[in-house]
Amino acid sequence: MYSPSIERLLTALKKLPGVGAHTAERYIFHWLKSGKREVGELVLALKKLMETVKSCERCWNFSDASPCPICRDAKRDRTTVCVVAEPADLAALERTGAWRGLYHVLRGVIDATEAENLPKLKIKELLARVKTGEGKTKISEVVLALNPDLPGETTMLYLERELKRINPQLIITRLARGLPLGADLRYADDITLGNALSHRITR
Ligand SMILES: [Zn+2]
Repeated sequence: MYSPSIERLLTALKKLPGVGAHTAERYIFHWLKSGKREVGELVLALKKLMETVKSCERCWNFSDASPCPICRDAKRDRTTVCVVAEPADLAALERTGAWRGLYHVLRGVIDATEAENLPKLKIKELLARVKTGEGKTKISEVVLALNPDLPGETTMLYLERELKRINPQLIITRLARGLPLGADLRYADDITLGNALSHRITR
């Protein structure tokens, strides 16, 4: 049994994704041993995060400004929107430098086990963007860049149906799927190998 202040922090840390009781204990005792300066820096960083980071009201990414720099960037192609589940997915795609369009962050995917999570997703906001366009520009293509797992597939099918209902001419695409670089055909699972074959590219 720990002191009430340690217990309080334990409870708070255990709410973080991927943090169990043991990890939470390790963090707390690391901070207690490392001293006030390191903890002070962490507290300041968290405080700054809460004070400055907001949601971009167009793409729903987290940013220090709304609209965010990507939504404000005049060089971006405003006719194409790439839909991702989480801000970290946006960051990963952005790092490739391969996407010059806009983004839309859903803040999750449809989870069949959690019926109440659907209204929390930024789906209504995506449909509204497709309906009204980006300023004077009409959105002509939406890329669904969600994970190819069951919740991702469920969400993409739902979005395809709803988007087509708003604009039957809208081009809806998905990320190509196939073998990762350096993969060995013999060890690829059936779904990956099947996808690689059906999404083969012409040379
Ligand atoms: Zn934005």
